[in-house]
Amino acid sequence: MPGLRAAVVPVTPFQQNCTLLWDEDSKRGAVIDPGGEVDRILAAVREAGFSPDMILLTHGHIDHAGGAAELRDSLRRQDRGGDKSSCPIIGPDERDRFLLQGIEQQARAYGLTGVRNVAPDRGLKEGDTIEVGGHRFDVLYCPGHTPGHIVFVNPGTRFAIVGDVLFQGSVGRTDFPYGDHAALIDSIKRKLLPLGDDLRFLCGHGPGSTIGAERRHNPFLR
Ligand SMILES: [Zn+2]
Repeated sequence: MPGLRAAVVPVTPFQQNCTLLWDEDSKRGAVIDPGGEVDRILAAVREAGFSPDMILLTHGHIDHAGGAAELRDSLRRQDRGGDKSSCPIIGPDERDRFLLQGIEQQARAYGLTGVRNVAPDRGLKEGDTIEVGGHRFDVLYCPGHTPGHIVFVNPGTRFAIVGDVLFQGSVGRTDFPYGDHAALIDSIKRKLLPLGDDLRFLCGHGPGSTIGAERRHNPFLR
């Protein structure tokens, strides 16, 4: 990936892949899906040596979004003297807002502490684009795992962050409330597979893969 760098920090008891994305020249970037363990995420950001301009969310589940509010507050305090508009939380689609507002309730169900409800500064929808360190990412709406799940695609480097839609050898769970397996498979087949076999992706849990490998080997896509 020319200029664009990525690093994964697995967080929470769910081993969710919080992903750091930054441009190696400008040292500007984003943190995607900070589910928790904010101290570890901040340490990884320092080690990578970039300044996060935004926090991006793929969907509203606790392991992806539970640390977003705390991370935003920490980054504002540390780097910008409390500037209220810096480092906004952006995404997911509006249809996951109710999940973000219910994160503390999700935490009680899982016996987790130290997470907060999230009110994004800005939602995203299909067709939106965002710039991360000068690299354009297209937003695709991919419901099924949750009603408002989105995916970030960088056409320039043939790279995507797909959250809990598609995994190496598997697909997102749909046995949660508001899950819809048919919608999930439809999202993968209509939105992700057409991106092309060479496109590499990182996902919310476990190792990344390519669209081509999943098209050929993923048992859920037969
Ligand atoms: Zn999820």
